[in-house]
Amino acid sequence: MSFDFEDYKTLGVKINYYYICKRKLWLFSKGISFEKYNDRVLQGKVVHETSYKREQNKEIEIDGNIKIDIIDKNFIREVKISSKMEESDRMQLLYYLYYLKNMGIERRGKINYVKEKRVEEIELTNDDIQEIERVLVEIKEIDLLDKAPRNIKKPFCKKCSYYEFCYIMEEC
Ligand code: SF4
Repeated sequence: MSFDFEDYKTLGVKINYYYICKRKLWLFSKGISFEKYNDRVLQGKVVHETSYKREQNKEIEIDGNIKIDIIDKNFIREVKISSKMEESDRMQLLYYLYYLKNMGIERRGKINYVKEKRVEEIELTNDDIQEIERVLVEIKEIDLLDKAPRNIKKPFCKKCSYYEFCYIMEEC
């Protein structure tokens, strides 16, 4: 069965949240957000604003869904503070590559992990395409849930902008 991307297109950040926590994804989809008060988010914004200062094709937004840090004739490039959330960052970049491929634009990806001074090169494979399409279907299903998925109780919850909402406000 062929997959109609137009029916499932979504924000790049939602792909990222899918791999971190389904509850976070659901809360974000419902417009519940505390991101602007979160230090890690502010840190990320500073890193973005000070990276690649001399590059021309910087911060390219497409359809209001994805925002690419840098695009050149071979690569799209993203900058991340560290690789702590490597899988979600990698899948978000693969989604960008997939999104561009649907527009007839073929690129490879690079993620620059600033703290570790490491660059990872990424290529979109057929397996990645299948995985992204499966996830897009599931994201649509999660968006339609009446109730938020359960707390995941992971150590990184303490750094999440929803931490108080999930573990303090809910217990009051
Ligand atoms: S605090 Fe934990 S359970 Fe709550 S949204 Fe964030 S990652 Fe998910």
